[in-house]
Amino acid sequence: MLNGKTALVTGSTSGIGLGIAICLARQGANVVLNGFGETDAAQAAVREYGQKVGYHGADMSKPDEIEAMMAYAQAEFGGVDVLVNNAGIQHVAPVEDFPSARWDAIIAINLSSVFHTTRLAIPAMRKKNWGRVLNIASTHGLVASAQKSAYVAAKHGVVGFTKSVALETATTGVTVNAICPGWVLTPLVQKQVDARAAADGISDDEAKKALLREKQPSLQFTTPEQLGELALFLCSDAAANVRGVAWQMDGGWTAQ
Ligand code: NAD
Repeated sequence: MLNGKTALVTGSTSGIGLGIAICLARQGANVVLNGFGETDAAQAAVREYGQKVGYHGADMSKPDEIEAMMAYAQAEFGGVDVLVNNAGIQHVAPVEDFPSARWDAIIAINLSSVFHTTRLAIPAMRKKNWGRVLNIASTHGLVASAQKSAYVAAKHGVVGFTKSVALETATTGVTVNAICPGWVLTPLVQKQVDARAAADGISDDEAKKALLREKQPSLQFTTPEQLGELALFLCSDAAANVRGVAWQMDGGWTAQ
């Protein structure tokens, strides 16, 4: 389905980004990975599907590094057809104790990077009259939780940005949509599980159940593979007229 196309997935060395990158490669896309940590393992996991795989270590909080990453994708892959804005971080604290540096980092990585990659990718997508921008927002792009002011602000921003650019491209073959996962058991969430277990003196398993009970009626984590399949649908011809949506995959979280 995506043979000959190139997908760039930010923050794809782990969790949801890696899951989506694998699904896109399985459907024939060449993939540019990005992110920190286990970069070799991530590249090996995506290479298994036989497509061309690249990596760029741009820090999504730095616009000049984002520009270098997009130039790399243009030079090595002929541009980006599917842009998945996924890189993100979390910090949990009441607003009066929220460190300013954490606020700035969350807004830069979770929100402003989406603007920078998108503004750089759209011109070539317009020229080809085909493109897919998938922004990994969150249920926190639609509803709030306490102690997550920066994350909730950034993710609501991503949903608004998605709608605006979807309107700008509405008469073209370029679609722009957001995906809003609920709890997905990735390193980002495991940190919150660990904090809950430590604070309440409960086991890892009990902390996971407590998080799910609080927000996610299905009592099941969404998986990166399920999110990858949703991303594939949004890349398909069937989704050509899906524009500016914020699509939940949250076990009923936002239906409450
Ligand atoms: P994760 O921690 O497993 O992965 C985050 C990825 O982003 C990693 O590859 C990391 O290296 C990369 N990253 C972090 N800072 C970066 C930076 N400055 N520059 C470049 N890359 C950077 O987290 P995840 O849970 O897979 O989260 C992925 C996205 O999904 C995030 O935007 C997150 O907000 C969103 N999300 C996650 C959940 C969840 O429950 N896990 C729910 C809703 C939305």
